[in-house]
Amino acid sequence: MSAAFPAALLPPQLHVFVRDWLSANNILLKSRDGHVLIDSGYVRHAPLTLALLAGARGLGDAPLAFLVNTHCHSDHVGGNAAIVRRYGCPVAVPAAEAPLVERWDQKALLYDYCDQQIERFAVDHVLPAGTTHVWGELEWQALAAPGHDMGALVFHNAEHRILISGDALWEHGFGFVMPPEVDPEALPATRATIEMLAGLDIRIVLPGHGEPFTDVAGALDRARKRIVAFEADSLRVARHALKVNLMFALLDQQRMRLDGMPAYVARVGLYRDFNALFFRLPPARLAELLMGELEKAGAARRSGDWLVPSAGDAP
Ligand SMILES: [Zn+2]
Repeated sequence: MSAAFPAALLPPQLHVFVRDWLSANNILLKSRDGHVLIDSGYVRHAPLTLALLAGARGLGDAPLAFLVNTHCHSDHVGGNAAIVRRYGCPVAVPAAEAPLVERWDQKALLYDYCDQQIERFAVDHVLPAGTTHVWGELEWQALAAPGHDMGALVFHNAEHRILISGDALWEHGFGFVMPPEVDPEALPATRATIEMLAGLDIRIVLPGHGEPFTDVAGALDRARKRIVAFEADSLRVARHALKVNLMFALLDQQRMRLDGMPAYVARVGLYRDFNALFFRLPPARLAELLMGELEKAGAARRSGDWLVPSAGDAP
């Protein structure tokens, strides 16, 4: 965990490895009964995930007993296969996600459909919503948190009032949501999940991305405002989904050729389908629109022949 968040607010057996937007945070729950890890990052970062786990703040030489995922998007399960190879531990995923993983539905799981990389892994246990689990000597209730991912779970510890929220709630928003034309359940479920979380007693949120935070009311308020804006304009929902997916691809690839962008949005399923449904633009114009959005947000810029994350220069 970075210096920005006082670790003293958390029980000592709980450690958060704050990662980035390409890799979800990893939460380690230590116990004499066996150490448990929640979420494993993106496949490209698997070597770093293993190094963090084996480090002084991690397991050292100790074994890992159990790997749990909040949901099965590529940035949360990308290290699963590598961790299983290293530690031989079983993997548990939300019960609603397990059939998708078992049949390796790369469209529903948003893997190749969104041009995201992944190493295949197997499910050993399923976690039904409403069940309680003792991890790190703490009791965690698994709660259904559909919306961004319709099968996602969050984990709530009532004693210390901690929420492990995955992508259901961040300090500033939540993971992208499918527009009503694609999944009519997604936005209503997102709203219901935020209201469910508002009914829990939470002191600290350990989100899937970003630092742990304590201004829970503020985060819920921002989430509600975003939902209201999304409900008023499904084109905005669609544009947001494409924008964040393109940013993810850019972070993954580090740079993308500008002259390859029209072919990219014509080839990758999510962009192709959303363009047909919402935008109906020539691929070059859709690519231009999305790159413009990333530039406007200060997330990316053009450098020579390349689109690059704003922090990076084309080599
Ligand atoms: Zn996600």
